[in-house]
Amino acid sequence: MTASPQPSSRWDVLRVPLVGAFLRWRYSRFALQLPLLLIAALCVYDGLTGRQLAPRNTATVAVWVHYRGLVALALAVAGNLFCAACPLMLTRGPTKLLKRFVPQLEFPKVLRNKYGVLGLTLLFLFSYEYFDLWASPWLTAWLILAYFAAALLTDALFPVGTFCKYVCPLGNFNFALSVASPTQISAIDQTVCQSCEGKYCLNGRVETATTRAPLHGFKSTHVLLELPMVSTMVNVSATRGAFPGCETDLFVPAIQSNTDCTLCLNCVRACPYDNVALTVRSPLTEATTLRPRADWAWFITVLAWAGLVNAFAMIPPFFAVAAWLSDLLGTRDEALLLLVIQGTGIGVGALLTWVAARGKLRDWVGVLFPLTLAVWGGHYLFHFVTGYNTLLPNAFSALERLGLPVTALALPGVVRGDGIFWIQAVISYAALVAAGWVAYRKAARGGRDARAVLLELLPMLLLIVFFNTLTLLIFSQPMQARGSLLQ
Ligand code: SF4
Ligand code: SF4
Repeated sequence: MTASPQPSSRWDVLRVPLVGAFLRWRYSRFALQLPLLLIAALCVYDGLTGRQLAPRNTATVAVWVHYRGLVALALAVAGNLFCAACPLMLTRGPTKLLKRFVPQLEFPKVLRNKYGVLGLTLLFLFSYEYFDLWASPWLTAWLILAYFAAALLTDALFPVGTFCKYVCPLGNFNFALSVASPTQISAIDQTVCQSCEGKYCLNGRVETATTRAPLHGFKSTHVLLELPMVSTMVNVSATRGAFPGCETDLFVPAIQSNTDCTLCLNCVRACPYDNVALTVRSPLTEATTLRPRADWAWFITVLAWAGLVNAFAMIPPFFAVAAWLSDLLGTRDEALLLLVIQGTGIGVGALLTWVAARGKLRDWVGVLFPLTLAVWGGHYLFHFVTGYNTLLPNAFSALERLGLPVTALALPGVVRGDGIFWIQAVISYAALVAAGWVAYRKAARGGRDARAVLLELLPMLLLIVFFNTLTLLIFSQPMQARGSLLQ
């Protein structure tokens, strides 16, 4: 960690009137989670008991149309808001209870990386196509229930936070794309952290009228920084009570990435010195400077190409390729054909990236962030535009069936998504320019001369242009408006 001698002067969202007060409020997360929990419950109810027609069911339109579109939008304009409001974390109460009855295990060291969740993400993408999850309210409802059960069991058996960090494909998708988000948690003044006795942002804090202590003792020794203690401890009046620390083991003064940050703001409330900021930054800052671990670099690489393959499966050329492959292999086994297409698309893409990076994937993976956000964001935008008006009529109809005093709304008209190609094109070209800029900054490190920079840059530039061309080709095709009334 590089200690900054001066307090950070960057703009802090937590200092914005009203917004800051709300975010610091002890129950702000709960206030965000509760509506999503109620929507999840309604999805399960409608998915299991309502009409089994995707555009006419709350489960399918909320999960596969609205949730995904809003996630991409929130990541691009604000940050990882959906992890912040994740209703799965409301299982914390039952988790604590369950912990009394089940053995407490260490999460295996061999699994403490992103390869496991990378496998789960690929499994999810395969299942999404193979089982047509987007078309089945019933399966979608069971998926929601399975998700809650998995979060509960994982964090009951293992330390809390294990699910978010190593198991949840959605959370890790959000972590990956939040690298290109315009906000980040950081310490305001590193010197205050150096003299902070409890490292409360990580360990949590319990504060009484007379004592202050880490909530569960010190979680980890890596927080005891090899930095000189300073005598200018800043003490502010701290709120009484118990405040949990970071469940994903991030230590605020050492944070240089949004990776693994759920924006829960536990650290903000646990720090008794009011020394945590949610700073505004350039969306390219992290892409330019990040050099992640190899597992995280591979996760991001696969996610980028999976974005293209996922969108490709919804346009006519996919079916032409599947028919050709079926004749070539002499099989109509859908699982096999899907595996071959997805495996080839993602595998070849990842290999090309590795080659363009000349084996130094960790150094160059930052280039992929704008491209990944553009391909997933542009794709979700299409589904959101064609299905945005379906949620309320379906939700009201489900609430009416539940006996609540609401009147079912009329079905909306069909919205075609043809007109949004130009928005997708603008997003893609913006990503092209941003990725080119990141690549240039990486190539220009160490004061190389212009020729050396160009030679260093060229393979990655070719990859960026190739990726962007594929993205535009896919977006220019008629896409299945899954989950919408057009379907
Ligand atoms: S952010 Fe707050 S709790 Fe964390 S080390 Fe710094 S002063 Fe201590
Ligand atoms: S406690 Fe950890 S996960 Fe939550 S906002 Fe702070 S750094 Fe992010």
